[in-house]
Amino acid sequence: MLRVSHLDVFYGPVQALRGVDLQVGRGEVVTLVGANGAGKSTLLRAISGLVPAKGTIELEGKSILGWSPESVVQAGLAHVPEGRRIFPGLTVVENLEVAGYSLGYPDRQIKDDIEMVLGIFPNLRSRAKSYGWSLSGGEQQMLSLGRGLMARPKMLMLDEPSLGLAPRLVEEVFRIIAEISKLGTTILLVEQNASMALTVANRGYVLETGQVVRTGPAEELLHDEAVVEAYLGGH
Ligand code: ATP
Repeated sequence: MLRVSHLDVFYGPVQALRGVDLQVGRGEVVTLVGANGAGKSTLLRAISGLVPAKGTIELEGKSILGWSPESVVQAGLAHVPEGRRIFPGLTVVENLEVAGYSLGYPDRQIKDDIEMVLGIFPNLRSRAKSYGWSLSGGEQQMLSLGRGLMARPKMLMLDEPSLGLAPRLVEEVFRIIAEISKLGTTILLVEQNASMALTVANRGYVLETGQVVRTGPAEELLHDEAVVEAYLGGH
């Protein structure tokens, strides 16, 4: 589905990614693990065309390097960035509508897709007419994810979807990620909560100072001593 190779990203003189190779197969959940500043968000931003990169980025065999973020979404790859990017002055349903309209989708499809999203997020259905500003942190996070799904992506990249949420909501977010995956969407996930992420993922990549230092099946990384020591709290 996605193939990244020899990817370099510079912010001015600072090299944030160094020769990164990564592949995500159709239907897989793949997670990126790494400390703050390791380059995880930069990798997602480079893939979605938000920062310039050198190397190869292919989606379903086609180069998307240098494409605009809009074109990347149109090609089927949606990015839900860190933080809850919703419109506070719009209701839940309006936030979802705007996501659909901004992609130029027809009314009928937008209506169906809102139903689909509200089906996945029961909490949002009960708050359908509430304004963005009145939602709890967890509800805002669900709405961000829901907005990503409005693009009907083949593949979804999620940056820290559980950040700042209470433990019960973290579990809810991971339940939803598993559900989205079951519905057939390929997922690339960046998470501070590495143990939860590796539990839901098929495979993982460990990034350190802009380089991939380890990759393998999630199950293997969950039991890898160095990974446990550095990212899983040493248990
Ligand atoms: P975090 O979990 O804190 O988001 P991360 O692994 O996602 O960390 P990035 O945000 O991708 O890491 O940052 C990678 C490196 O690039 C860091 O050294 C960071 O300081 C630097 N960096 C990130 N964004 C910029 C920017 N806009 N300008 C300059 N340097 C940046």
